[in-house]
Amino acid sequence: MKVTDIHSLRAVLFDMDGVLFDSMPYHADAWHTVMERHGLHLSREEAFLHEGRTGAATINIVYRRQYGKDATPELVEQIYAEKSAEFAKHPEPQRMEGAWELMQKVKAAGLIPVLVTGSGQASLLDRLAHSYPDTFDRAHMVTAFDVKYGKPNPEPYLMGLAKAGVAANEAIVVENAPIGVQAGVAAGIFTVAVNTGPLDGQVLLDAGANLLFPSMQAFCDNWEQLYRALNRI
Ligand code: CA
Repeated sequence: MKVTDIHSLRAVLFDMDGVLFDSMPYHADAWHTVMERHGLHLSREEAFLHEGRTGAATINIVYRRQYGKDATPELVEQIYAEKSAEFAKHPEPQRMEGAWELMQKVKAAGLIPVLVTGSGQASLLDRLAHSYPDTFDRAHMVTAFDVKYGKPNPEPYLMGLAKAGVAANEAIVVENAPIGVQAGVAAGIFTVAVNTGPLDGQVLLDAGANLLFPSMQAFCDNWEQLYRALNRI
């Protein structure tokens, strides 16, 4: 997909962790700690590769690798609850540098900000209202509670389009994780990758990203140029 495939930009679909908040190192640490507690092996580095999946999907990928079968629903629930508790021990995640400034530009352009996250952590969703006030309409949010499949399935982003009432060629996706990029691309949406974590940027391009920036600040600094290109003005 090229920039010229955009019809007229109306909405920006934002992933949350690693895009709006600098929260991924805490998630990776919490995953690693809790999985080890249960005898399951997931390094912090690998946690970044699974970023964006639902908690259940991540747990079962690791469990199947070791035991050749899915974990019981009870164990999945237990591990995910412990992971959420472990995450909460970390300091409150800060806004990703450049994200606030970019959001002001998106709002000033009259575009609809839509949240599309695999997270189901009430604490971070609450934080959204504090860190990005008057930004995300409740009706324009897709979380872990809404989806059946989750990323990399296109489902969450297709739901985001539906909630905003826009077509795929009237939106862009902003993602930092390979699995999230896959989901955006599979939904037929122009997908901007911002490499805010430790992975090689090539991983995001291999996942199908249409555009790659090394940070949210770099995306923000290049917003005007991209916006003009997207709207052919
Ligand atoms: Ca993310």
